[in-house]
Amino acid sequence: MRIDKMLANLGYGSRKDVKKLLKDGAVVVNDKVIKDSKQHVDPDNDVITLNGEIVEYKEFVYLMMNKPPGVISATEDNHDETVIDLLEYEDQVFEPFPVGRLDKDTEGLLLITNDGQLSHRLLSPKKHVPKTYFAVIEGIVTSDDGEAFQKGVTLDDGYLTKPAHLTILKSGLTSDIELTITEGKFHQVKRMFEAVGKRVIYLKRLSMGPLKLDETLELGEYRELTDEELEELI
Ligand code: URA
Repeated sequence: MRIDKMLANLGYGSRKDVKKLLKDGAVVVNDKVIKDSKQHVDPDNDVITLNGEIVEYKEFVYLMMNKPPGVISATEDNHDETVIDLLEYEDQVFEPFPVGRLDKDTEGLLLITNDGQLSHRLLSPKKHVPKTYFAVIEGIVTSDDGEAFQKGVTLDDGYLTKPAHLTILKSGLTSDIELTITEGKFHQVKRMFEAVGKRVIYLKRLSMGPLKLDETLELGEYRELTDEELEELI
């Protein structure tokens, strides 16, 4: 890979900025100052420093965000802020995208990456990756609803949902529940409750496959996945 491309990809500036850094002698590859921006380097084996600091190359970025309400889980939107807008520039340079969609008003776990293969695997209907949501429902949720979800309910477009697991945490004027589904139809949780005559008034994703929301993340905050989280996911 060309040294200027590598440094630009890592967010050290535009190709032009990087060219200047190289010209200024700021870049050293295996103890040799490199001024030629066309120079090829091997990111895995060459020791590269910029102003004396080691440059670690990575191709992929894996971020866990606690998505806030009011933000769109897409890379671009004409009207609203997107989850990508919330990222620091250093992370945006990897051109990451959210894995799957959460509604504008839904909060919680969102994986943001530029690893297309991982995204594909997590979203593939064939893989049945479980996703668990916490929700507050208007009215009383009963074990009958749990049985209905276990059997599958028919959504407004005639689709019969796959078995889903409901846990009732609190039942009353409003009910707190957790629901685990293994598919990802549009507005699925909200539409499943509609199918049993109830309304979701708050929705938050807690987990996706082995990945669990880090509850220490404030709404809108994000962090890189730990090595352990990544190992479990890949
Ligand atoms: N189900 C929904 O209804 N909305 C979401 O954002 C996610 C799952």
